[in-house]
Order: sequence, then C-alpha cells, then structure tokens
Amino acid sequence: MDGTRVPRYNSYGAYLKRVFGEKVYKLPVNVGATCPNRDGTLACGGCLYCGEDGGAFEGLPATMSVSEQLARNKEYIGRRYGARKFIAYFQTFSNTYLPLPRFVACMEEACLDPDLAGLAIATRPDCVRDDYLRFLAELSARRGVGVELELGLQTVNYRTLAAVRRGHGLAEFIDAVLRAREHGLTVCAHLILNLPGDERLDVVETARVVSALRVAAVKLHALYVLKDTPLGADYLAGRFIPVSAEEYIERVILFLEHLHPDIAVQRLLGRAPAARTLFCNWGLSWRRIHERIVAEMEARDTCQGRRCDYLNGKALTHLSLPA
Ligand code: SF4
Repeated sequence: MDGTRVPRYNSYGAYLKRVFGEKVYKLPVNVGATCPNRDGTLACGGCLYCGEDGGAFEGLPATMSVSEQLARNKEYIGRRYGARKFIAYFQTFSNTYLPLPRFVACMEEACLDPDLAGLAIATRPDCVRDDYLRFLAELSARRGVGVELELGLQTVNYRTLAAVRRGHGLAEFIDAVLRAREHGLTVCAHLILNLPGDERLDVVETARVVSALRVAAVKLHALYVLKDTPLGADYLAGRFIPVSAEEYIERVILFLEHLHPDIAVQRLLGRAPAARTLFCNWGLSWRRIHERIVAEMEARDTCQGRRCDYLNGKALTHLSLPA
C-alpha cells in the first residue's frame, strides 16, 4: 500500500476535468422562473417539501441580468478556486417553463460570455418541449457549448412521486431523457434517496433505471424540511420522521454500488437555506457526512458500479437487495 486513496465514485469534478481538460465551475443564475406545480397549471401547493425560493437561496436576485450574475459569480469563484472556464447553471424552479422568447434570450445572453464552457438547465421532466430542445441543440452547435438538462426525478417509485405531489411520474422522465438525447443534449438526474415511503429497494431500482438510461450525471440530495411547507407541518406534528444519518449513508452506498461507473456524481447531499430550515443533514455539515460515506466505502472496499447490472451487456438481472 502506498497510501494513495482510490476514488470510490466518479466525481463530477474529475468528469469535468476529463471533458474540458481543466477545472470548470458552475455559476448559479436565477432568471425568475416558476413551476407549473406551484402556479396553478398542474397544482398550487408544489411538492410537499418545496420552499418559496425553489433553490434560489444560493444565487443572486432575478432582477440582475444574466450577464451581471455571471460576471459577479465568476469574479468570486474564479478568484477563490483559480477557475477560468464556467458553466452557467440556471438553477431555480423550472427554467424550460419560461416562455420560449424569454428562455431563448436568457440562453443567448449567457453564451456571450467568452469563458463559458456549457449550460446546465434545471427543470421538471414534464416541461421539456421539443421546440426548446431544437433551440438548445442549434445553440450548442452554433456556440460550441455543451448543454445539460438537470431533470428532477427524485425517485422512480411512482407511488412516492404521487404521495409527495410531484405532479409527474417516471414515464415523463424516461421520455425527456430519450428526447434530450435525440437532440444531442446530456441529462443529470436529481434524486432524493430518503423521501417518505421509499425504502432501500427503491434506491436500488432508482440506480438501476438511471443506469439503464445512461444519464450523464446524477445529483443526490438528502431530504431537508423547510418551515411553511406541508412537509414542515408533518415534521412538527410528528407525522414525518426523517431516516437516520446512518440509514442515509447506507442508501447512498447502495445507490453508488448499483450505479453505472460511467455516470458522474455531482453531489452526495445538498444544502438548505439555514434561516427557514427545520431539519437538514442531521445537524451536521454536508462535508462531514460526505467524509463518513467515503470512509465507510473504504472500510468495505466498495465503489460505484460494483453491483451494477448494466455492465458488459450482462443479461440476467433482477431487482434485489444484497444479501
Ligand atoms: S418541481 Fe421543484 S419547483 Fe416545482 S414544486 Fe416541486 S420542488 Fe418546487
């Protein structure tokens, strides 16, 4: 043993370095998008856990232009991490739910930045229209930038999706992935491994489905609980009890073991806005939990893809938990 640590999973940072040949950082951009699951089109309340800002707590206000936000974040991140190339990350709510002319204007404005390597666009799988995809494919070719759709799936268990009021099922996700691929775009799947009602077998099947679909990347979030949400009310009334940190760590390891090794992993858990949070990451820093996951994988000498059913055209597979 020479003391060198073996990577236990295919990290996004390493993936970006392979693709672009240098460090690339994502810069959040907020363009004031909304969501059909909140504005009355599909429903009014949103998902049980959705907060008012839709992820905007990490970003700048939507009143700033796309170029101003990119310039401000680039100055900070570039100085802090020594990065020269960036991905504009349209992070908040469902960005392909913007009217097409506004969506086109935002993407075109981002592409004026000379240091831009790509666009990452967060949205719902049922908000991916072909006219938006055609525009993105044309923009990608014209500007020479990669385009990734960040699709919120959360779990493949359609009963859980219904129970947390996602307003879409698994089929919409599969359809969006296939159509994005037809247009030459890549997909990152956002997943929550500890939604109420989900068990370890759901985690395994979620890893199997995104592996079978060969998404480019996944981003994991541990479910957090915000004030003034239906989940927050359930939490305060004792109707919702989050799984333990130990159980979450087990689920992440199980997920990674069943995940195809080519799929990049952007995060193992996320962060929440401190001021409005009732429960987040068991009161620990995300870095501490991340370290515990990696340490446990090292202790078990396991890694991403170790139990993946979709390697080398393996034919006979079935859904089960490891003995
Ligand atoms: S899809 Fe996202 S933005 Fe829309 S209600 Fe659910 S969590 Fe909120």
